[in-house]
Amino acid sequence: MNGHTEVDTMDQGMLLAGEWVRRDRVIEVEDPATQGIIGSVPMATREDAEAAVRSASTAQRAWARRTPMERGDVLRRWARLVERDADRLAELIVHEQGKPLAEARGEVKATSMFFDYAASFDRHLTGDVMPADAPNEQMWIVPSPVGVVVAITPWNYPAAIPARKIGPALVAGNALILKPNSLTPLTALELGRLSEEAGVPSGVFQVLTGPGAEVGEALVRHPLTRLVTFTGSTATGKRLIQLAAENVTVVSLELGGKAPFIVMDDADLDRAVADAIVTRFINCGQTCICNERTYVHERIAPAFLERFVEAARALPVGDPMAATTRVGPKVSQDELEKVEAHLQAAQAAGARTLTGGKRLSEGAYARGYWMEPTVLADVRQDMPIMREEVFGPVVPVMTFRDFDEVIGLANDSRYGLAGYLYTRDVDRVMRAVRDLECGELYVNRGPGESIHGYHAGWKESGIGGDDGRYGMEHYIRRKTVYLRFEG
Ligand code: NDP
Repeated sequence: MNGHTEVDTMDQGMLLAGEWVRRDRVIEVEDPATQGIIGSVPMATREDAEAAVRSASTAQRAWARRTPMERGDVLRRWARLVERDADRLAELIVHEQGKPLAEARGEVKATSMFFDYAASFDRHLTGDVMPADAPNEQMWIVPSPVGVVVAITPWNYPAAIPARKIGPALVAGNALILKPNSLTPLTALELGRLSEEAGVPSGVFQVLTGPGAEVGEALVRHPLTRLVTFTGSTATGKRLIQLAAENVTVVSLELGGKAPFIVMDDADLDRAVADAIVTRFINCGQTCICNERTYVHERIAPAFLERFVEAARALPVGDPMAATTRVGPKVSQDELEKVEAHLQAAQAAGARTLTGGKRLSEGAYARGYWMEPTVLADVRQDMPIMREEVFGPVVPVMTFRDFDEVIGLANDSRYGLAGYLYTRDVDRVMRAVRDLECGELYVNRGPGESIHGYHAGWKESGIGGDDGRYGMEHYIRRKTVYLRFEG
């Protein structure tokens, strides 16, 4: 893009067993707005995975013997360092992932919040004391770390998604090895640098860069790995369940979504339109809780569509470093082609393009991976565009007649991550709370989880989850102690 500031190329090592190591084979990291190479990182091997897990296992035992308050202090220091380096981190996220700068700043803020929030569990890692069945006995249920945690993360939130896993893992006394997506490893490595400054002991936090199919699988299959916490596609999640089964390793998986965005005929239309736009086009449509299929009541469909299409058409697409930009590039050529294939298949099947409808490649868009914000009408529930996750700025809109029908349509999906409902009718709200099959429901508001909620997909959107006290539970094992005493 014209005017896009370049960053210095970063040739990074990876953080393995407390050392910054390099390898002959590297992965180049591209800026999706310019296609310029902004850095390179080592391609870890299976032997590196073995060394990382062994070192994590040793380091974890000493870390677990520290008090939770000491561990919390380390996380709080890490949070302050993220805040200190917020501008630099935000710019790095823009350059390696492509989201607009304001969104990247929000992500960095969330990163420090995840560390602070996890640290607040330091005095709350509690158990139970219970009466026993026999006299002179006491029963305890005590929390215990799981041991070595492997976190495998996607490219769409390269700082916040690792942080939401690192924080709870470390405060609970685990060691964590992070394997970031190869499209966005630089931010993860920066978190590694800050971890050392914050005082995370050698081996307790490591960052291994390299292909998931090689280094990711080696980490997951290792018998000393006790928990795999993963955010990414459903296809990879299914593979990880199979691999984890070999050693009965616990998995917590946050996978794909196909969130329905339901607008009833009594909705506040201005709010519904504005939120439907944000919910689809944030991060260029690359968010797992995005508005993937908009269902509008037939009575208000013409008014909704007129405003929605106008708003989509007006979205500024361009340089993600520019303050006015709302939609940046797709993250990579492959990802752009996937979205384009979905779009073309829908058009071929009869979907009508109300705005957008193709990739942008002329003039200022000659380099980079750009797609027009696109709204499709005349879609049917059985079309792939209504069933498969489309990680991009393309939204199909379908009409419905009544509430029961739309609940059925919304639930007619193999996914169950997020859902949205716009209505002023409290009965409908309560019925949706009861009947919608999703782990996260937004009523009359757009997307955005809170750190103390519970981000968890139903159906093929996941197992387990992150955030809040329920997320914390996945990073803990519990041991029941039966204790007999004399007297
Ligand atoms: P992928 O599943 O392609 O990759 C995720 C991570 O898994 C990457 O680090 C990748 O490594 C690694 N990986 C790939 N194959 C394997 C394997 N066989 N064994 C071990 N690790 C492997 O997902 P994306 O990164 O493309 O992310 C997009 C997806 O993530 C979307 O489906 C989206 O819905 C989902 N997502 C879900 C969220 C949620 O909270 N539910 C939030 C954000 C995204 P590499 O690519 O380097 O090879």
